[in-house]
Amino acid sequence: MSNCLFCRIVAGEIPAKLAYEDEDVIAFYDINPQAPLHVLIIPRKHIAMINDIQPEDAALVGKLYLAAKKIAADAGYADEGYRVVMNCGADAGQSVFHIHLHLLAGRALSWPPG
Ligand code: AMP
Repeated sequence: MSNCLFCRIVAGEIPAKLAYEDEDVIAFYDINPQAPLHVLIIPRKHIAMINDIQPEDAALVGKLYLAAKKIAADAGYADEGYRVVMNCGADAGQSVFHIHLHLLAGRALSWPPG
């Protein structure tokens, strides 16, 4: 989708610092990091929000988590711990409507989130 910010990052039209990429998934550092490590992991395919995920997307969504695991491990946070979260909709704080996992690590994270 040409008007989607994250589709434009996938297309290389907007620069981003990549943390990981494969044929289905890319990950890049959040422009406004909330932890020492804050990476966004997205499918190359445009899916606006969790509500739009279809059964045929199950493996693709699983790949987002596998990428999160690899990025966290490569950055040295496998044992220390990290958080992986996806917001859905305005009340949850979703501001970019192309699904993305937030990977946060490097500081103690409180629960429940605000
Ligand atoms: P959410 O609020 O869950 O939709 O998360 C969207 C995230 O995208 C926020 O953490 C933003 O800081 C981040 N973001 C917005 N624009 C960019 C960009 N151009 N490059 C990297 N991260 C971005």
